[in-house]
Amino acid sequence: MAQRIAIVSVFDKTGLLDLAKGLVQQNVRILASGGTAKMIRESGFPVEDISAITKAPEMLAGRVKTLHPAVHAGILARNLASDEKDLAEQHIDKVDYVVCNLYPFKETIAKPNVTVPEAVEEIDIGGVTLIRAAAKNHSRVTILSDPNDYAEFLKELEAGEIKEASRNRYALKAFEHTADYDDNISAFFRARYAADGQQYATLRYGANPHQKPAAAFMKSSTKLPFKALNGSPGYINLLDALNSWPLVKELKAALGKPAAASFKHVSPAGAAIGVPLSPEERKVYFVDDIQGIETSGLAQAYARARGADRMSSFGDIIALSDVVDVPTASIISKEVSDGVIAPGYEDAALEILKKKKGGKYLVLQIDPEYTPEPTETRTVYGVTLQQHRNDVEISPRSFSRTVTPKDFTLPEGAARDLTVATIALKYTQSNSVCYAKDGQVIGLGAGQQSRIHCTRLAGDKADNWWFRFHPRVLGIKWKKGTKRPDKSNAIDLLVSGELPKSGPEREQFEAVFEEVPAAFTEAEREDWSSKLGDVAVSSDAFFPFIDNVYRAHRSGVKYIAAPGGSQNDTAVYETAEKLGIVFVEQNVRLFHH
Ligand code: 5GP
Repeated sequence: MAQRIAIVSVFDKTGLLDLAKGLVQQNVRILASGGTAKMIRESGFPVEDISAITKAPEMLAGRVKTLHPAVHAGILARNLASDEKDLAEQHIDKVDYVVCNLYPFKETIAKPNVTVPEAVEEIDIGGVTLIRAAAKNHSRVTILSDPNDYAEFLKELEAGEIKEASRNRYALKAFEHTADYDDNISAFFRARYAADGQQYATLRYGANPHQKPAAAFMKSSTKLPFKALNGSPGYINLLDALNSWPLVKELKAALGKPAAASFKHVSPAGAAIGVPLSPEERKVYFVDDIQGIETSGLAQAYARARGADRMSSFGDIIALSDVVDVPTASIISKEVSDGVIAPGYEDAALEILKKKKGGKYLVLQIDPEYTPEPTETRTVYGVTLQQHRNDVEISPRSFSRTVTPKDFTLPEGAARDLTVATIALKYTQSNSVCYAKDGQVIGLGAGQQSRIHCTRLAGDKADNWWFRFHPRVLGIKWKKGTKRPDKSNAIDLLVSGELPKSGPEREQFEAVFEEVPAAFTEAEREDWSSKLGDVAVSSDAFFPFIDNVYRAHRSGVKYIAAPGGSQNDTAVYETAEKLGIVFVEQNVRLFHH
């Protein structure tokens, strides 16, 4: 048998001498690049320079060391007659083992103020080629790219040959080593050479001001699907924008009407489609002075999305399914909001929005044709998580399987409201439960660990929404100059029952009214609550206990859609039946995180 050959070229020389010793003991011929050969030689082990087979010196101050057919044909040759013939003609010997790790690119670019020439010098060329060639031919060649593997490799070598399973494992590691290396190189140049805002957007910071640096980018030279027409997005702005946009896109596709969402902390505070507003609704949603709202479905949708839970919508990111018109921009201009994402803007609407927040209001334009890759990947605490994107389609057809009463055909309005609630849940942090009516979310419980807490939270929000239509609230006489957020806060105190009887908070509450409205009595509450009906509720997973159904019923719920699968399904259905609630089994679980 011909003497086996190892090519050794390592930047990280950890364990190198033990490896050389082991190779020599097994009578393996070692060929090494400059610095590697020097270290082995100085320790007294036999080693030859790569030039012994290339007959060419290292060149260009180390840029060309091992790049040569004598090296790469020796590595890449298979045990085929045609390959053997080629090698024989060129007097090249087969290489059996490649030991290589790369220049420290990652460590170099981590240094502060590193320059492009400094980084460029750390881009390993020959080493990557050695590793890829050996890994490609791992059915015959062993590639060691990690010093931690030397000991085990030597043990197998002493015992005879390197096992196939080991070669496979080393090859995988080698491919990952070069992939990670290339990732670092492209990330370095992306941050410098990609036009800012097109493929790569520098963000001021991440979720918190101390989380720097931060960026949003696409790989493979793909453009970002959005561009900032005004302002610059923050990290959480983008989380909200990129969750709220698909929500409105899907709502519009499912129901054929313009749609809007108002997002905060990666969950909707409200979402709706364009349904004309009654005079009371215009008042409750603070849009009775908006010109043109009667004919703008988009403005109606946003008025409803923003009106559902005005407290939670304070400082929202807005998503709009259609080109933004002046009535919609006029509503936005009056509210406290952080930004908007939409497929386009009428010129006059854009001018209105550009004036918000001292000219810093975030206006994003999204490409409505953009479809994300089917696989989505993120890292959490250094661990990569990957899944197929949640591209399940929800539409009124998703609610055809009624459990109780059996084979009941839902009225169109109920199927619409369940669609609104369920698509909203698809983009709400779990657990989540959503109440909807008249084509809009009226109460949403997000991110609770217990389902009943979601159902209660959402139910309480729906009740608050409903009490804002109480004649006492509609008839409030505000002190002149009271600002919209102060009105929303005062109304919330009044309708939520959180109003203290006395003390400074009560005094502050009373200060915004011409005439202070009386707190609601228990009897008044019961009476007004009993008038709320035909509410639809959706849940992102099954109801584990019947308490959810009882709680929903207290807020006028007539329709519930939830997946089955709980041990208590039968009891849940029986409770719904007893309360006269139509229960739809909607077979798709919609956890979102
Ligand atoms: P040494 O310390 O032996 O002089 O160099 C070892 C390093 O050189 C290893 O990190 C290896 O990946 C890298 N290397 C091997 N061949 C080449 C080559 O042809 N060009 C370049 N730029 N680097 C190489």
